[in-house]
Amino acid sequence: MENIDININGKVLSVKAESTILEAATANGIAIPTLCALKGIDSRASCRMCVVEVSGARVFQPACATKVSKGMAVNTDTDEIRQSRKTTLELLLSRHAVDCHHCLRIGNSKCDDLDPNFCEMCFFCDCVRDGFCELQALAREYQVDVLPYPQENIEQKIDVSTGSIIRNPNKCIKCRRCVDVCNEVQTVHNLSIINRGSSTKIVPEMDKSMKDSPCVQCGRCVDVCPTGSIFIKEHKDEAVYYAHKYGTDTAAFISSNVLKKLAELFRMDTPVMDAGLVVAGLRKIGMDYVYTDEVVNQLSAQDGKRALLKALDTEKETVIITDSYAAEKFVKQNFAKLAQKLVTYDSPQRIFAKNIKQTFARNQNPDFRLIAITEGGENAAEAYENKSVDFVIPARELYRIFLRTGVDPKQRKPLESDRFEVSRDVLPPMAFFAPVEWSMEKEIKQTEIVLNGKNMKAAISTNLGQAGVLLEQVQNGNSPYKVIRINA
Ligand code: SF4
Ligand code: SF4
Repeated sequence: MENIDININGKVLSVKAESTILEAATANGIAIPTLCALKGIDSRASCRMCVVEVSGARVFQPACATKVSKGMAVNTDTDEIRQSRKTTLELLLSRHAVDCHHCLRIGNSKCDDLDPNFCEMCFFCDCVRDGFCELQALAREYQVDVLPYPQENIEQKIDVSTGSIIRNPNKCIKCRRCVDVCNEVQTVHNLSIINRGSSTKIVPEMDKSMKDSPCVQCGRCVDVCPTGSIFIKEHKDEAVYYAHKYGTDTAAFISSNVLKKLAELFRMDTPVMDAGLVVAGLRKIGMDYVYTDEVVNQLSAQDGKRALLKALDTEKETVIITDSYAAEKFVKQNFAKLAQKLVTYDSPQRIFAKNIKQTFARNQNPDFRLIAITEGGENAAEAYENKSVDFVIPARELYRIFLRTGVDPKQRKPLESDRFEVSRDVLPPMAFFAPVEWSMEKEIKQTEIVLNGKNMKAAISTNLGQAGVLLEQVQNGNSPYKVIRINA
């Protein structure tokens, strides 16, 4: 792609000719705030936070939706721009239930003499996103100390119908990120935006509850929501309660996917938090048994391999295999004919639950609670509906637990995790079944596997949109693959 010169904040920069101002600025380390843009999705310019001054334009332009042009001059941070963004934030906050409103740092005070780390110690905010809310962070940065506009539309019903993914429309800022991810990346087409002006709202299909809608509970809308408007139900109080309860044992497993997020939340210099520190922190809180996911991932991969070998014995066409709870729902909902041939195997969460139940049964101590510390709405949904584990706690919630219990894992001496007894009769590992990270990419990962001396063409989906493409090929009889592994 060709490069062109533009001027941002007085500096001449060489940027990609096809890029937006936001992309060009970001690529050059210039931060422009946004509450709606998502990499890889065409911008809707819905939040108006990224407005910038562009040479020749009479009004501010949204940086996320304005393409660069040769010789263009852009200012991203003048007093006028800051004032415009502050007004935008004030308007957004007038339609957002500010549960952090009573906090001295936002909403009702001009105090500027508080310790910046004050929020780390405060126990009074109710919002699940307190401390990680993109709206709250910008309100602080732009010093929104008072809310000048009356609050409206903040008494809508909260949707708790699924029991695992909660929608609180009172905190929705209509950025559309969830809609775009559900429709364009996951292709579930559950969420949409209805009405206009102050009545605009985001709703599941036909304005139904999440439970009655086609939602497959993948939880990807939760990952991208900038506020506490869609979230995984928290269990921090129960988890801490059972960790302390005499006569009840608690067993937790830490999935590697939370360690990166924890390092970020604790503002560590390393990209990933040492699992030993998390083990030490959880033991300090009172968890009796703490496991890492190394062995459960291995056991899950072996379960997958076993299931695949069995399926290959009888299946002449493409084998569709998954350990994903949401992907299974997606197939049943959208490809009913293929659902019969879907091969499933145990996910690491289910393997953990099975192994712990066997271990505890052997020790004759049936009163225990199982806690999966892992990311992903499908884990929470599976736990809620199938009762594999008692609680699923994502990284953000674990961070809140550490803050509220005053346990700082960074300050602890790393401890060894507990270990499952693994049978010696195990199959060699198979990379095809390694954990997969969700992506917003359209491109499908192709690979080759060798089983029983045969080379087979295979593919792995990293989101439901990709899964849909692969399943459609199978349905139409033109899949080039012998095996497809689908993930949500
Ligand atoms: S959980 Fe998944 S399917 Fe359900 S609304 Fe969110 S993105 Fe869509
Ligand atoms: S629910 Fe969250 S992601 Fe969806 S529009 Fe509202 S604020 Fe944005």
